[in-house]
Formats: sequence, structure tokens, C-alpha cells
Amino acid sequence: MRAIHGFIATVGALLFGINAFAEDSAVSCRAGDRACAAQELRKNPAKSVAFWRDALSKPMDQRIAAGPKELVDLIALDNTVNGFPNKPRASTLSDDFMADVRGAFAALPDIVKRKAAPKLAGVYFVDDIGGTGFSDQIYGPDGKAAAGFIVLDSQVLKVQKANAWATWKENTPFKPDGSFTLEAQIEDAASDDRKQAIQYILLHEMGHVLSIGTDIHPPWNLRPRDVPLTRDYPYFELSWRVSLGEDRYVTRFDADFPQRRNIAYYFGAKLAASDMLATYESLVRTNFPSLYAATHPGDDFAEAFASYVHTVLMGKPFEIRISRDGGVVKRYGSCWEEARCAEKRRILEALLK
Ligand SMILES: [Zn+2]
Repeated sequence: MRAIHGFIATVGALLFGINAFAEDSAVSCRAGDRACAAQELRKNPAKSVAFWRDALSKPMDQRIAAGPKELVDLIALDNTVNGFPNKPRASTLSDDFMADVRGAFAALPDIVKRKAAPKLAGVYFVDDIGGTGFSDQIYGPDGKAAAGFIVLDSQVLKVQKANAWATWKENTPFKPDGSFTLEAQIEDAASDDRKQAIQYILLHEMGHVLSIGTDIHPPWNLRPRDVPLTRDYPYFELSWRVSLGEDRYVTRFDADFPQRRNIAYYFGAKLAASDMLATYESLVRTNFPSLYAATHPGDDFAEAFASYVHTVLMGKPFEIRISRDGGVVKRYGSCWEEARCAEKRRILEALLK
């Protein structure tokens, strides 16, 4: 997740190392000038619904393309604001890669595509964004968040297969120790390919976009302490609270889930591999659909959406297997048939009616 502007899964820098410091040559800010970048970011045309009007009127499958220049600029500015070294550039997309992306989107349930149509300005490809996926809000003339876009890094995605990607991601919170290992399965062997990795990543980002302008959880560009106390956020309230003093989100499970605050995906694992078992044993006593869901209200919903569509609507597998010295000691599956996730499931069912 990006601090306040957008949501991001930071995979890219890890795979590609640190590049030259961003110069933001497309805009007038000096390299590393965060204040200037923040100001330019607010003025970026890709933040407004007007910029995306054409895209929003096209059929969904025509909203999948290389990122326009304005979007590349937006991500460069966002990287400067966040201190990321990555230097975004428009992707050159091969036909076989685009066929996988279009295929991944086309295979989604109709209800998901219908819900996305008015809200998703498109799926765009930019290289070296500093992650795999990025979603952000688009504002209407009244200043309210009305829609969103998804940016994916084709350089990162073109090398991923579904189960290897999921296994890699779910291992990142843990420091390897050679004894405890974790395997994730989101596809059967026959369909364990790049298209399915793209589909799962796309579903997660679509969850973020579908939450825009709703009461599912507070907008991700608000600091926790600025969340209006008078508003109801039914999904959020099932798990989350604001700690005003700390200006952070806490969960109602934190007393019995001591590992939660040390869940750090992608960079800088804070948990030991020997914590895997206890962490997942704590997780099943919560209503979070995945471990990543327990990191932030926005990712709670994006993970729930992806997991619900993937396992319930599409009937696909989801399993985390923890092994000790080669022997499986814990299996963690989709929670949608379990009582612990029933209330979240009702909200998802209502949304996808
Ligand atoms: Zn996310």
C-alpha cells in the first residue's frame, strides 16, 4: 500500500533492484523534491473523471492498454512523494501478454465485470512502478472520489505463475529458517499459469476500486485520525477501530493476535518462520480472510473480494500449507464457509447481487 495516495503491492523493486533516482523529467519538480511532487500530483489530469470520460464510455475489454503519459507522470510523482526510487515508463506490451490479461479479465464472473464497468477507468500498464499493482481514486467535479484506475507492472507480471507468485507473496512476512516453510495454492496444476496470476492480482486491485466512494471502509487517502466518527463503515467496523492517539488502525482481535502488528509483506519480514504456525492459528480466530487482510482496512476488503470471487463465485482453490521439516503441520483454507467470515460474506453477497 502506498502511504496515502494509492494502494500498491510492492514487488517490483525487489525483483529488479534499486534503479537510478527518479528525476521526474516529465514534470517541473527537481529530483526528490517531495513538496513539489505532492503539489504537482494534486494537479495531475489523471486524478479527474474528465480525463477518463472516454475510457469510461468504452466496453470494459477496451480499457486495457499501455498507460498514457499522464498516468506515467502521476506514478513518478507518487514515487517521489513516497521516496521510492523507481522510475516509471510506459510499457511495450507483447501480444501474448495482452492475450493473457484480456483472457484473465474475460473469464471473471459477469457480475464482477458489471460492477466494475461504471467505476473502473481501466487497467493500464506502466513499467517500474515500484510494485506489481497500483490503484488510485479519480475525483469528480464536486471533489468526491467517483471512480478509480488500476496500474500493473507488465515487467513483474510477465514472469509470474499463479502458485509460485502466491507462495512467494505469502512467505514475505516471514524470515526463512530452513525448518518451517509455507506453500500457497490458488490454482490446480493444470491452470497454474501467468494468466491466473494476473487474474488474482487484478481481482485484488478491483476490490480496491470497487470500494471507492462507498461506505465499505474509510477512504485510503484519509489519515486514521481524520476518519469522521459520525460515519458508519459496516465492513470496516466488523474488524477495525481507529486508535486516535496513535493515528493508526487497530483491530478488535489485537489482544489475541500479537503477531498482527509485525505482519509486513514484501519488504523487511518481521516475523520468524517459526511464528508461521502461531500466526495462522491466531488468524483463524479472526474474521480476516487472509493474513494480508489483517494489515490494513483497505487490504482487508480487497483480499476478501479477491478470495470470495476466486473461491466462491469461480470455484477455484485457495490453500496455505505450513510445513515443518517437510511435514505439513497446518492447512489454512478459504473462510467463506466458516462462521467467522459469515458477516463479511453477507456484505460481499449484497455487493455482488
Ligand atoms: Zn492492496
